[in-house]
Amino acid sequence: MKKIAILGSSGSIGTQTLDIVYNIKNDVCVKGLAVDSNIEVLKLQIKKFKPSAVSVNNFAESNNLKKWCVSNNIRISVYSGPSGLERLVKMPDVEMVIVAIVGAAGLKATVAAIKSKKNVAIANKEILVMAGSYIMSLAVENGISVLPVDSEHSAIFQCCIGEKKPQIKKIVLTASGGPFYRYDKKFSQITVKEALNHPIWKMGKKITIDSSTLMNKGLEAIEASVLFGVPIEKVEVIIHPQSILHSMVEYIDGSVIAQLSNPDMRLPIQYALTYPERLPSNVKPLNLNEIGKLEFFKPDFNKFPCLKLSYYAAKKGFTMLSVMNAANEVAVEAFLNEEIKFTDIPKIVEKTMYAHTISKSLSLDSFIEADFWARYYARKLIN
Ligand code: MG
Repeated sequence: MKKIAILGSSGSIGTQTLDIVYNIKNDVCVKGLAVDSNIEVLKLQIKKFKPSAVSVNNFAESNNLKKWCVSNNIRISVYSGPSGLERLVKMPDVEMVIVAIVGAAGLKATVAAIKSKKNVAIANKEILVMAGSYIMSLAVENGISVLPVDSEHSAIFQCCIGEKKPQIKKIVLTASGGPFYRYDKKFSQITVKEALNHPIWKMGKKITIDSSTLMNKGLEAIEASVLFGVPIEKVEVIIHPQSILHSMVEYIDGSVIAQLSNPDMRLPIQYALTYPERLPSNVKPLNLNEIGKLEFFKPDFNKFPCLKLSYYAAKKGFTMLSVMNAANEVAVEAFLNEEIKFTDIPKIVEKTMYAHTISKSLSLDSFIEADFWARYYARKLIN
């Protein structure tokens, strides 16, 4: 029985993870859950999964939850704030932490989990983009595994099992292309509603917008380079609208190994939970006869400048990565609030990157500082 904690249990990945845990409850059990402020969802999760501790970031809601526990005679520890997350991941009976919360809070919790020698499954690529080199070296130091939850990275991970890293020639990351890879109207007129209408995946708002600008794929290229220890030049992006082939790895002898399945996040989440084992799942079996054709196109870097910015940031490395990621988060939020146009997103990111002076210190604080600076700078540009 694998004992896990889920950070961000009320979000899209968090709730899907719990659905899977429920289906494989003889193999995985939940010891800790953390949310930002959504205690109504958390209450249902507590009743169903009986964790030994939970953490609520918002102090007022955390107090409300404590009262609810007392009046319902539920005896669990309720923590709050950033220190609550740390206490949760450090609990001795937690073996693996699923990180599905964003920003600096997610980063600090991941670091705390790794330092207390817990395996981590990272669902938020932002953490690996922001401070990937730091996280990966910390993981080696502590002898723990960092498992991918992203569908493409789970695919690459599966294509690399039993292989040797120096024999990888390149990683080919597939992208559905989002709603606009064939869009023929002016990109500056794209509305929030159009951008939120993803053809394949149903996801949170931030990642859906990132998919429409292809920033998501840029972040994933960086994530792949970090997780699998290959230079960014060896990571290639290809548009594959059917989203059946989730990524592939080409080896030096010319062999290409790919992982295919119907697009369903439950598969990569379950694999991260059960690795190195596989268990039956509810994912619809793949029927290639029915699908008929799989198409592949080269992405247009000029139409989607966020891709170009990602490769540039990856080549520069260090704090440039935190800066790009933070500026993008601020720009996407501003677009969602209809403060800026769709085409302003890459402009804000680029201007912020241009204004940044890279720090080559590899401390956690330098990444967090760069993140804060970029948020402030990008915000100023928007205003
Ligand atoms: Mg993905």
